[in-house]
Amino acid sequence: MAYMDWDDLSEQCRKCTACDLAKTRNNVVVGVGRPDAEILFVGEGPGEQEDLKGEPFVGRGGQLLDKMLAAVGLSRQHNIYIANIVKCRPPKNRDPLPDEQEACIHWLREQVSLIRPKIMVCLGRVAACRIISPDFKVTLQHGEFIKKGNILMMGTFHPAAILRNPNLKPDAFADYLALRDEIARVCEHTVLNWD
Ligand code: SF4
Repeated sequence: MAYMDWDDLSEQCRKCTACDLAKTRNNVVVGVGRPDAEILFVGEGPGEQEDLKGEPFVGRGGQLLDKMLAAVGLSRQHNIYIANIVKCRPPKNRDPLPDEQEACIHWLREQVSLIRPKIMVCLGRVAACRIISPDFKVTLQHGEFIKKGNILMMGTFHPAAILRNPNLKPDAFADYLALRDEIARVCEHTVLNWD
């Protein structure tokens, strides 16, 4: 199904009951950021805070993500869009099940076709395995850019994984620096914001 515009997609997505996650959610977390962004970040699904607020990456992991983004001139307000593989919270923050991902992935596909990003960044194993390659290993392949169709794709650590293991921070930061270089190379209108 093709949606006429962003408002139409958001409205329809918020009404979705296509999988069991609809029964336990407080909010459908469609995404946040600029629909004209050239860079799309994708996580696996909303957590508790995200479910309560209706916005992705707003808990401690989200604060860390915002810091790493700011370090390379990116922010959800100015130049990126952030979405998830599933739009409703899996109970107890478990990984989204394959059938839940399958039921939900068309919303992300619609978002991609409206945004038409130049670069997609997968945050964590679930997103990278779903979008880049089913056998993606974040610890081995993080920071590598792979072209699929017209989109450059990169997987990096989920912010929650960095909170659990702060030793990952230097590697994660190197991924964001590599992202900044790729933005300079392939993006056409992205302005990095250093305020
Ligand atoms: S997780 Fe996705 S498919 Fe399932 S109810 Fe929410 S929006 Fe619909």
